[in-house]
Amino acid sequence: MVDVTLSNVSKSFGSHEVLKNISLEVPDRSFVAFVGPSGCGKSTLLRVIAGLESASSGEIRFGERRMNDVPAPDRGAAMVFQSYALYPHMTVWENMSFSLRLKGVSRKERRAQTVEVARLLQLDPLLDRKPGQLSGGQRQRVAIGRALMREPEVFLFDEPLSNLDAALRSEMRVELSRLHHAIGNTMIYVTHDQVEAMTMADQIVVLKDGEVMQVGAPMELYARPASRFVAEFIGAPK
Ligand code: ADP
Ligand code: MG
Repeated sequence: MVDVTLSNVSKSFGSHEVLKNISLEVPDRSFVAFVGPSGCGKSTLLRVIAGLESASSGEIRFGERRMNDVPAPDRGAAMVFQSYALYPHMTVWENMSFSLRLKGVSRKERRAQTVEVARLLQLDPLLDRKPGQLSGGQRQRVAIGRALMREPEVFLFDEPLSNLDAALRSEMRVELSRLHHAIGNTMIYVTHDQVEAMTMADQIVVLKDGEVMQVGAPMELYARPASRFVAEFIGAPK
């Protein structure tokens, strides 16, 4: 479990500067939401933290460890995307434990570890099904479970609920909050949905055009937005 610290992180694609001098501290064990309109750089920021994109300048640290030159698989971060891909020919538990299989863990041990994680996500009755026999919400839970099996220090979510219908989305919000309390690791959660951020996060980071506009607890941003933009995005109606 670690703090994630960004110092003056910028990222350009060609001449387009997508992230501008971002400095942020995500405290150990916190649940931080990155919010902002489509195209503001949320996914890019998450990918830079995960190591799927390199920063053009600035520093990324997990705890004391500088991560800039550490390849994605060695960072101890697991990412869950909105469009999750499960292997259709494998059962739920085989999908979830795939990373253990790559590490050479025995089938029996894989099964035992999967059962434990499945309990957390209430997937235990579904372990022997194939993805085609699951609902959208159940499939997304399997994708989360698969990430969890890697025992990440940092959990990165990129709009994981945006493909689900409203009822499932609110059910999954509760479930993810419960999961965060149960496992207590650092979670960074990207969303363009203010309600998700307000109900789940300890801290919200509001982004606009690749810049941090404001950081604060949900009620703080709601009650004391620092700009009209923040007020319109999540603040109290004026
Ligand atoms: P968000 O997730 O907030 O919608 P993104 O991080 O996906 O925003 O994108 C921010 C900006 O960066 C957009 O203008 C997007 O077109 C651009 N962008 C993202 N990825 C790439 C890439 N690989 N190459 C070029 N431009 C990109
Ligand atoms: Mg995005």
